[in-house]
Amino acid sequence: MKQSFESNSLHIVKERARYFFIIDKDVDRSMEIIVLIEGVHNDRGPIKGTTIVNSIDPMCSSVTLLKGKKNILIDTGYRGYEDEIIARLKEEKLTPADIDVVVNTHSHLDHCYNNHLFTNAKVIYGRNVLSPKKWDVVSAITIPGINIMETPGHFPDHRSILVKSDQTYIIAGDALREDIVRNQALWKTMNDEYTMNAKRIIAVADVIIPGHGRIIQGELLEELRRIIASRQ
Ligand SMILES: [Zn+2]
Repeated sequence: MKQSFESNSLHIVKERARYFFIIDKDVDRSMEIIVLIEGVHNDRGPIKGTTIVNSIDPMCSSVTLLKGKKNILIDTGYRGYEDEIIARLKEEKLTPADIDVVVNTHSHLDHCYNNHLFTNAKVIYGRNVLSPKKWDVVSAITIPGINIMETPGHFPDHRSILVKSDQTYIIAGDALREDIVRNQALWKTMNDEYTMNAKRIIAVADVIIPGHGRIIQGELLEELRRIIASRQ
């Protein structure tokens, strides 16, 4: 199937998905989950007659803001998206300096390229090529209702962010992708950790914000649940 840049760029939502969650019922404190950028990943397929990938373009992870007293950014996207991220933050009356914590689901560059913009933020990204240091991820976020969920498979120290309120939201990075779930041949090439964690995520989530592709909730979530349940 031929895909053009134009058709895929439509995945970048103009109306940002926005959810409220209660973090402390006693004092009526809430935060917002705002998807600043919906992740894209357009694999143009192999160059004719070879197995070499033609190009992956556009490519950028989702960039999700947890907005409240502390501002947390989940993934920072890829090269070329700096201006868009700053513009989206501005719409929220924020600048990069207002971000307190950056959490990278993993250290692939389409998820952490723009970490450098957030000069005041504590960055949680685990072992990777950029830093040999493993952060203490458990103590790094102390806001009630926000938890780090270790979800290795796509990458050894991949993590997802679980937000528990009236609904369970999971910002899943590349731990679960609609295109992989739908493609049996692709699903079969995933390692055991990937399939186990994808099943964990889809079992507990009401809303999944994946690293690439549209938000998974409602009927789409139910459909993907049925597909995963049918897989060995
Ligand atoms: Zn990715």
